[in-house]
Amino acid sequence: MRDYILVNSPFIHFAEKYVVAYSQYMDIAWMDTYPEESIVKKAYIFAEEAHRGITRESGEPYIIHPLAVAKFVHEWGLDDASVVAAFLHDVLEDTLHTQKELEKIFGTEIAEIVDGMTKLRNFKYGENPDAENIRKLILSFGKDLRVILIKLADRYHNMKTLKYKSPEKQKEIAWETIEIYAPIAYRLGMQKLSGELEDLSFPFLYEEEYRWLMENVKEQHEERASYAERLKPALSRMLDEAGIKPIAIDSRAKRYYSLYRKLIRGDMDLSKIYDLVAVRVVVKTIEECYATLGVIHKHWSPLPGRFKDYIAVPKPNGYRSLHTVVSALENKISEIQIKTEEMHQENEFGIAAHWAYEQTKKDPTQKTKNWEGMKNKKELLWVEQLQNWQNKFVNRKDFLESLKVDFFKERIFVLTPKNDVIDLPAGSTPIDFAYHIHSDIGDQCTGARVNGKIVPLDHELRSGDIIEVMTQKGKKPSEDWLRFIKSSMAKKYVRSALRMKDRKLQTKISAPKEIQFKIMNLDHSGYLKEITGVFGDLDVNIIFLNSQADPRLTFSMVVIRCENIPKQKLEKLIVRIKKIPGTKEITYHYV
Ligand code: MN
Repeated sequence: MRDYILVNSPFIHFAEKYVVAYSQYMDIAWMDTYPEESIVKKAYIFAEEAHRGITRESGEPYIIHPLAVAKFVHEWGLDDASVVAAFLHDVLEDTLHTQKELEKIFGTEIAEIVDGMTKLRNFKYGENPDAENIRKLILSFGKDLRVILIKLADRYHNMKTLKYKSPEKQKEIAWETIEIYAPIAYRLGMQKLSGELEDLSFPFLYEEEYRWLMENVKEQHEERASYAERLKPALSRMLDEAGIKPIAIDSRAKRYYSLYRKLIRGDMDLSKIYDLVAVRVVVKTIEECYATLGVIHKHWSPLPGRFKDYIAVPKPNGYRSLHTVVSALENKISEIQIKTEEMHQENEFGIAAHWAYEQTKKDPTQKTKNWEGMKNKKELLWVEQLQNWQNKFVNRKDFLESLKVDFFKERIFVLTPKNDVIDLPAGSTPIDFAYHIHSDIGDQCTGARVNGKIVPLDHELRSGDIIEVMTQKGKKPSEDWLRFIKSSMAKKYVRSALRMKDRKLQTKISAPKEIQFKIMNLDHSGYLKEITGVFGDLDVNIIFLNSQADPRLTFSMVVIRCENIPKQKLEKLIVRIKKIPGTKEITYHYV
């Protein structure tokens, strides 16, 4: 049993004893914001003790890692319990300390977060991904999102030090990061982190492509960066003339991995990627965002179709900003993003920033933040959606597929006529949309209007489209739909509706398959030809035909058997036959 008297001992001079020892490796000054006897410092001391003598692959003392993770968590504005859990996150796995001990010293809440972290650490996205494990992961962060936020900080630091691992491990960890964690960060609105995780993974996964990109893009990058620098004073001047004082104008280089994806989507033509460097204008209010846009468009003409209003219609992950592409100085094409300070914070740090912001609004002095309150936030809806979805999938493989397709690829967002935003996988069609509204609407979908125009059912939807679905009661989905629908939810519903239909067909085997008509008529030449003509006109296959004259020759009886046809068609057929001169009486029955 370890002796952790340090933790329970009266005040020890923190800075003297611990901080100085490790400050050679990293910045620890941020810990000064916590009081000497705070639980955060207690946790640091505990972790330092627990990991003492152990080194990382880099040769640094192990504590450097929990320290770095705790620092990120602190910077994202999470609560004290999160910072404490960040310090302790590797303790259960790597030392002899137990869950019970942590519970006793730091309380149940923190011990549970650490336990969640330990479980996540054992989660592997290997060659044969196991949906059950991913499910656990989803559940664990649905229960307490702090677990996943600390995990992201943990992964971020591990990616920064990935070069010390074996090449095999590097590939495995980079793959996991790009496939699982970067998309999760993105979905939580942590754009900056998500992009950085991708860029950190990129060189390990696509070595050659990365080298090619660096060689080819570097020069243009530098040229664009210096151009962006020239753009800033010009922008500043024109805004000043209009009475707008921006908080900041800066430029943001395009991330390499997202640039790479853009290039492979197109034709690897670097000359067409003109938003290598985007200029960002941060202003005070939403009104100023639009005013700024107006001023810019007055001086520099916008490229048609390139303006995006993510303030009116935020991205599904909550991203808000105005994006425009203009022909600016020297007639060079340039992307400009306009946002408020609050939006900027939210766009960079996502849920974490939003949470911190809400808390300071409520009580700026409050140090312990109310996590429960966050769970009801609109921003967390997709987490709930994720959980609801997994309950719908009985089959593990289906569930894993749904995660890959629906949550870890690009999304589009479209609108209902009531302006509700519906989040769909890229390439979705009106059918996907209809199923997203309700399974019945999907099943009975007959057509759709996109932005007021009628489109085919396999029409590919685009972000910002307004979609109206037309339905017909009793209509059943068609097998054909499976060719073009994109979302797993829609596929699942169509398949299950088709299975129902099959079952119904099977039970119909004993049901009538043919219709037999008896037509009494005043026999005249050509009558039979006219009768068969009617069947032919209506595309009804005749299976059997017989004509018998009455012995007294006053009339004849035609017996015709045809395939089963819908009621409506049957009525049409009878009306047409009745109209043929000579028809006296017509009866039918199913055989
Ligand atoms: Mn760790």
